[in-house]
Amino acid sequence: MTAEPLPPGATVGIVGGGQLGRMMALAASKIGLKSSIFAPDEDCPAFEVATFRHCAAYDDRAALERFAREADAVTYEFENVPAEALAIIEQHSHLAPNRRALEVSQNRLEERRFLAGLGLPCAPHAEIRGRNELEPAWSNLTAGQSDTLLFLKLARYGYDGKGQMRIGGAGDLAPARQWLGNEEALLERGVDFAYEFSMLCVRDQGGRMSCYDPPRNVHKGGILRESIVPAALPDDVLATAKDIAGEILAALDYVGVLAVEMFAERHNGGIRPIINEIAPRVHNSGHWTLDACPVSQFENHIRAVAGWPLGTTERHSDARMVNLLGEEALRWPSLLEENPSRSLTLYGKKDAVSGRKMGHFVELKPKP
Ligand code: AMP
Repeated sequence: MTAEPLPPGATVGIVGGGQLGRMMALAASKIGLKSSIFAPDEDCPAFEVATFRHCAAYDDRAALERFAREADAVTYEFENVPAEALAIIEQHSHLAPNRRALEVSQNRLEERRFLAGLGLPCAPHAEIRGRNELEPAWSNLTAGQSDTLLFLKLARYGYDGKGQMRIGGAGDLAPARQWLGNEEALLERGVDFAYEFSMLCVRDQGGRMSCYDPPRNVHKGGILRESIVPAALPDDVLATAKDIAGEILAALDYVGVLAVEMFAERHNGGIRPIINEIAPRVHNSGHWTLDACPVSQFENHIRAVAGWPLGTTERHSDARMVNLLGEEALRWPSLLEENPSRSLTLYGKKDAVSGRKMGHFVELKPKP
């Protein structure tokens, strides 16, 4: 814990140089803090807006030490940072969220064990260690109904639907075996969901938690396309989802913003929330908070890391956020002309590679 709130002028270190790091650095700058980005890629989006830049590999011990010593507090913008890098950083600076939060969420098996330990709801699943364990687990989970949809997800480095494969029947087992090789993975039953949503919560150093209104999220091909608030969740579903998020944050002794991606599963004629995954960071489905809230997820995250009082998570408007993937971002002039009240954010990425998140826009409507 930082003993005192960091004063304006202090430096917040951010591990990772993507668009989330960029928006965190801008939020730090807004409240008079300096930002220092550690990233291996010279062209990364966050370097453009940072006060200090450390361009080095995540296993460069000396560079990590220099970065950590320069920062008064350090946070991270994605969960695939090696845990060893955080172990070095935490010796020299205050780290938030802590290393355990990263370790739990960067490995799908670890994450499921953690959630099961808390008794929290996830889809039925099995742990798989290499291709030979696939078929027995598939038989168990399909229980004689071989057309049951399953998802095979690599334990590590999965994001935006990458590192996963659908198994829709026995005919998919041979390609799945080959794809899996000797890797560790999670085999999970497909969820019959009405929609997806995410809880975006922030917790301060004293353990106080607050949640933004959850957005309803639309994915295509495993990639987030749109987030819409309000999600119009039934009250009991919202209350349960908040309790679930609260238990996760407390169990991790978490500081900062954390997202819990959830399925609204159809169940006995109603809806119940179950967890898809957790992300120990600000989240794509919370970008609308920049426009629809007095205090955005990025500012609240930086405030929590810096030991500042949190701001409200209330919103003043309804919002729709649309991701711009690959070449869609090249249409920015017409996107703006079509609707001048759209708020556009571009991440400064050079190559509009297909499926790559290049920017987003937000449309607001007054709350009814
Ligand atoms: P993930 O990378 O695990 O977040 O998965 C990306 C997207 O794939 C999710 O947002 C869902 O749209 C879909 N998906 C993943 N797991 C399941 C599941 N068990 N049942 C249904 N859809 C899923």
